[in-house]
Amino acid sequence: MDGNYEQDIGGFDLVLFGGTGDLAMRKLMPGLYYHHHSGRDMVDARIIAAARQDLSREQYLAKVHESCQKFIPTADFDEASWLRFAAHIEYVKVDGADAEGYKALSATLAHSGERVRVFYLATIPDLFVTICTHLAHAGLVTTHTRVVLEKPLGRDLASAQKINEQVGAIFREDQIFRIDHYLGKETVQNLLALRFGNTLFEPLWNRVAIRDVQITIAEQVGVETRGDFYDRTGALRDMVQNHLLQLLCILAMEPPASIDPDAVRDEKLKVLRALKPMSPQEVAERTVRGQYRAGAINGKPVGSFHDELGIAKDSLTETFVAIKAELSTWRWAGVPFYLRTGKRMQERMAEIVVNFHEVPHAILPSAVRGSQSNRLIIQLQPDQGLKLCMMAKVPGAEMRVRPVHLNLDFAESFEMRQWDAYERLIMDVIRGRLTLFMRRDELDAAWRWIEPIMHGWATQGDRPKAYTAGTWGPAASSALLVRDGYCWHEES
Ligand code: NAP
Repeated sequence: MDGNYEQDIGGFDLVLFGGTGDLAMRKLMPGLYYHHHSGRDMVDARIIAAARQDLSREQYLAKVHESCQKFIPTADFDEASWLRFAAHIEYVKVDGADAEGYKALSATLAHSGERVRVFYLATIPDLFVTICTHLAHAGLVTTHTRVVLEKPLGRDLASAQKINEQVGAIFREDQIFRIDHYLGKETVQNLLALRFGNTLFEPLWNRVAIRDVQITIAEQVGVETRGDFYDRTGALRDMVQNHLLQLLCILAMEPPASIDPDAVRDEKLKVLRALKPMSPQEVAERTVRGQYRAGAINGKPVGSFHDELGIAKDSLTETFVAIKAELSTWRWAGVPFYLRTGKRMQERMAEIVVNFHEVPHAILPSAVRGSQSNRLIIQLQPDQGLKLCMMAKVPGAEMRVRPVHLNLDFAESFEMRQWDAYERLIMDVIRGRLTLFMRRDELDAAWRWIEPIMHGWATQGDRPKAYTAGTWGPAASSALLVRDGYCWHEES
């Protein structure tokens, strides 16, 4: 998917609204440092951070310096590189909601000519339309301007459509980059390479060979300082509507005619539209929502969701979701796609597990209890890699088999630095590459499938099921698979 990454991208201005925020400090600035450090693309770049805090450039740089030191491994960070990187950074005090603030930004961007200009909106989504409107009124939107919208884009279909319509009145669709950083992960693109660059898997990539698919994004962290935001959002909107459904699309889509943005996004859209809608009864049967209570992570006691929120009110927000999804297509009919995400889980881990059918008739005795079936594990975090689980003979006189892993560890196989997801996606925006960004109709289709689940939960009137922090979620999540005769990967 890199294509001609070697091409010179020329000068650009990247304006980072929310430049003092968590995302900017933890991910965006460290990602840009890495990119600068690798000596490419940023010779004539300006990174203009914008936020309301009254900071001098030096005060802002001190903050970025501190976070780069914190979030970049010591071996990759050096002061000489930092000083060269810092020379590209400016800070402008702007209240995104106040037209006055845009004067300072206009002055900073004056005389920048026809260079690529990117407005990255790392703020709450409520500000997206306001900021875009002010940018347009201030005359800052040129033909070479792009806007990046962070997730979650809306709270439901209607609010997402409203944002898209209003932003769409200012920017053309090919100027709008709706970011989902999971698509920037090396392994996700490797999944495309695996499926469409090899003849081995594609003939097996269907209901005949594949029994079920499991997609898990598990976090160990709780809601931390984002309690208010999270309490209004929940795991379904924060993780399933975007990350999990995008991973499902990449896994399940038909081969696109080319790697062109619309060829890929057309196929992803077909997957989203093929998701079987759920009736209220099916929502009750095929979804599980949970909320963590106090427990322990890596042996350290942690509080409940309510403790973290620090409020007395009884929140019904889910911090865990498990869903059995199905696709109404010839290729995938009858194959369950189990989706799962949660906070305060036993491990921090993201993976896609493709379970193949068992051999139809086992003639070889197994050295371990369990099935004789192949499994492909696509690991997204903490490490990125692919594992293919095959049955192999146990050494010795007897003919017995047990599973062994064929391992493709990217770090070992390619002696090259792996790009961080945000680093890759920011550079894609600057190059104008839309393939890894969500198109408006994809977002609509995702919300259309999610909404009946939200409504089903609202009308059921029961509480999210409690699970102890540091576990894999409520027992009902295991039961969701056990009913079909399966279990989650880590339980097998
Ligand atoms: P955050 O830590 O609360 O930061 C918000 C940023 O917006 C701050 O820099 C704040 O600075 C700025 N801001 C707030 N009101 C503003 C205004 N009126 N005008 C200009 N700037 C304003 O939030 P975050 O965690 O970085 O998240 C930002 C966005 O990214 C959210 O949409 C979030 O859902 C999304 N996101 C975050 C993460 C993550 O890991 N943090 C991951 C994926 C997506 P001032 O208060 O100084 O103005």
